[in-house]
Amino acid sequence: MTDLTTRNEFIARHIGPRDSDTAAMLETLGYADLEALTASVIPASIKGTSVLQAGDGQSEAEALAEIKAIARRNQLFRNYIGQGYYGTHTPAPILRNLLENPAWYTAYTPYQPEISQGRLESLLNFQTLISDLTGLPIANASLLDEGTAAAEAMTFCKRLSKNKTSNAFFASQHCHPQTLDVLRTRAEPLGIEVVVGDESGIGDASAYFGALLQYPASHGDIFDYSQVVERFHGAGALVAVAADLLALTLLQAPGEFGADVALGSAQRFGVPLGFGGPHAAYFATRDAFKRDMPGRLVGLSIDRHGNPALRLAMQTREQHIRREKATSNICTAQVLLANIASMYAVYHGPEGLTRIARRVHRLTAIFARGLADLGLAIEQQAFFDTLTLRTAEHTAALHDKARAAGINLREVDAQRLGLSFDETTTQADIEQLWALFAADRPVPDFTAIAAGIDSRLPAAQLRQSPILGHPVFNRYHSETELMRYLRKLADKDLALDRSMIPLGSCTMKLNAASEMIPITWAEFGNLHPFAPAAQSAGYQQLTDELEAMLCAATGYDAVSLQPNAGSQGEYAGLLAIRAYHKSRGDAQRDICLIPQSAHGTNPATAHMAGMRVVVTACDARGNVDIADLRAKAEQHRDHLAALMITYPSTHGVFEEGIGEICALIHDNGGQVYIDGANMNAMVGLCAPGRFGGDVSHLNLHKTFCIPHGGGGPGVGPIGVKAHLAPFLPGHARLQRQEGAVSAAPFGSASILPITWMYIRMMGGSGLRRASQMAILNANYIARRLEEHYPVLYSGEGGLVAHECILDLRPLKETSGISVDDVAKRLIDFGFHAPTMSFPVAGTLMIEPTESESKEELDRFCDAMIAIREEIRAVERGELERDDNPLKNAPHTAAELVGEWTHPYSREQAVYPTRKLVEGKYWPPVGRVDNVFGDRNLVCACPPIEAYQDA
Ligand SMILES: *Cc1c(COP(=O)(O)O)cnc(C)c1O
Repeated sequence: MTDLTTRNEFIARHIGPRDSDTAAMLETLGYADLEALTASVIPASIKGTSVLQAGDGQSEAEALAEIKAIARRNQLFRNYIGQGYYGTHTPAPILRNLLENPAWYTAYTPYQPEISQGRLESLLNFQTLISDLTGLPIANASLLDEGTAAAEAMTFCKRLSKNKTSNAFFASQHCHPQTLDVLRTRAEPLGIEVVVGDESGIGDASAYFGALLQYPASHGDIFDYSQVVERFHGAGALVAVAADLLALTLLQAPGEFGADVALGSAQRFGVPLGFGGPHAAYFATRDAFKRDMPGRLVGLSIDRHGNPALRLAMQTREQHIRREKATSNICTAQVLLANIASMYAVYHGPEGLTRIARRVHRLTAIFARGLADLGLAIEQQAFFDTLTLRTAEHTAALHDKARAAGINLREVDAQRLGLSFDETTTQADIEQLWALFAADRPVPDFTAIAAGIDSRLPAAQLRQSPILGHPVFNRYHSETELMRYLRKLADKDLALDRSMIPLGSCTMKLNAASEMIPITWAEFGNLHPFAPAAQSAGYQQLTDELEAMLCAATGYDAVSLQPNAGSQGEYAGLLAIRAYHKSRGDAQRDICLIPQSAHGTNPATAHMAGMRVVVTACDARGNVDIADLRAKAEQHRDHLAALMITYPSTHGVFEEGIGEICALIHDNGGQVYIDGANMNAMVGLCAPGRFGGDVSHLNLHKTFCIPHGGGGPGVGPIGVKAHLAPFLPGHARLQRQEGAVSAAPFGSASILPITWMYIRMMGGSGLRRASQMAILNANYIARRLEEHYPVLYSGEGGLVAHECILDLRPLKETSGISVDDVAKRLIDFGFHAPTMSFPVAGTLMIEPTESESKEELDRFCDAMIAIREEIRAVERGELERDDNPLKNAPHTAAELVGEWTHPYSREQAVYPTRKLVEGKYWPPVGRVDNVFGDRNLVCACPPIEAYQDA
């Protein structure tokens, strides 16, 4: 009889191998079943610590129905709250062809430039857009949000200011309140004093190393900052300006009135409000300061053939090199959102953007005049899109009346309210608002007022310089053209929609369509983060449930979803530890022990949290050297604050000694921070909150299915044991004592449905199985490749965790072939390279994840083995040492049609296996020259002649 129950097929859809494949792989490894394999991999001391309840999860249809019901509990009001978050229309072709397109959202961070030219071009457009609008020559490829960008600007000023003795940073009272919040949090551990005040009253600025101004001001005023900037400069201080990008299309650029840094949010360029994020922040500065820029910078270089090629410039991996001396801990940023904003500018062009800005401004000016006619005074002399009204004793009643009409106004204070207009505002909206304020007076006549109103922008500060003259902003203004441009760029790139991306530590697993669908629903997309809490009951339920799910997955007692990347989770976690010590009168505890093998963000974060980093050794097997750790913990026992340790280790091994390690830190008064980036090996099998961790961050964009987006967005929640729960990040919107680490209370709230869906569909049993399959897939690869490339580290029984490291260093001796050559040769086979030279130079780290099928694992192993055969041919002298398919990889199509001078064939170059004939990825550029690009830094779209000359 046919089974009539709804089957949950999702678990088997998420997991790559079929049951018969699983059996075959287990047999290769010599295990009877998955349980036996798992039992051999997980150390006895931590086995059984998982508290995840078994359960089958829901089918895709059921989970979508449930989350739809949750979404419906959010109420969609018309928002005039502003304060850094504005309504915008995401152009439909960008929504469909970029935001909802796996070719864009499943891409990895563009560390391998040859397979990333599409998203690199889009990011270069973003940098050009920012540089043009701010009037500053160097802009980066995005930061996490406006608040953290302001905090980066503060420390940037500190590093570069001539005023070396000052520890005070001036922040204008006209800044957005959430920005001031994040600034205060970030200043305190560094001993920086944030002085909030009115810049117009500052006489002597010599007390400050830097200043932050908001343009236009949070309440709407457009002030002339040129003299203020001069005063700060006169005292040796630097000035950062948080500026609104849409306003900048009409107003003098910060760079033109002397700003050293401009920063802000690109949200209103087509990115939904999303209850606060994710949105791209931007950061721009003078040429002289480019080497201190936080975050990633896309730059132009050349490839092996001398053709222009893009790649990430300079600071890209600086945390791995400079560790605690890095300029910032930013790793994952907001690439997908930066690309949306840049495409919004590409689609609208300079005239379209200016038209949108003029329209928003004119509607605001018309509204202001109508208010005046109603006898209501606004505070602003000059404004762009935001007004503040002195409504005195009527304030509360007006808010009530507005809410009854489905409208949110900004709550400024008990006496005042505010309104911001945006791209979505219409004449009907203005008339509705007038009616609200008119009480029983006649509503003003829109048409009559409009006829007499032009601009309320200050004449002296109108923008004189042209914007976006580059052809890229003037060509793709029809939908057909834009659609094809997006397709052209996506086709240049290798994302998960084409092949596995075996990046160690990054967990490039399936981002299922059912997980992605809810994030573009209006019920999640159109909520303002500062709308009254009663309107976001759906989000409240979603975040409450997700926090509980993550507690169950990790064994912790409480979770904060606020940090918007792993790096920010690390920061929030160390702040919690710091506050905990302080609360116990242990403020002197400031030593953070970090094993040598740690991810670079760990030491960079510890430094930001005001801790001193002490590096501990690893042994020859890649494990933490417990004797050295013990010695250092004891040596610093009076000052020990924390250990930051990654588990399973960055070497891909479940270290037996983890229980002992945690105990010895606790015995010496420290707290244990377990970096949870490798959680994909543990969910349902063991729980860091139960085997000694006090706090961990999770990367929801690794283990929990949020796509990498080409380098962001991410979410980096932290889980903590109960004693640290009081020290989780707070926010003006949350009842907590600590400061905020992100601008919005729930950070990147609008992508949380992805993780909720994943966990709901997998259930406890599915999650556990995913971890087991991730371990199986990694061990299968390790077994298939070990006779060709030595596997560097393994645990007891020769098994690895969910990733493995291949040692290529011996090949350098025997053949001259480097890890780079192998990585680039993989591109000719249609694969993204594994992680290169982390955590050990000269190695490749491979993490297949549970989502890859046996066919795909075999295809990858076959490619790696074929490459090894080529290396053997070099070793034997059958291929030349300096002119072989590896050294010249990757090969472009253009190369084939030119004169062929290599001692190997064209076929071997581009079709090393015949299967590639039916579906070949063609890299658009040859191997990129990194050194050339750093020596000749170009970070904005070069003038078109540059391409013609080349
Ligand atoms: C990815 C990763 C991080 C940083 O996370 P982001 O989200 O990129 O900021 C930290 N530690 C480890 C071990 C990682 O793999």
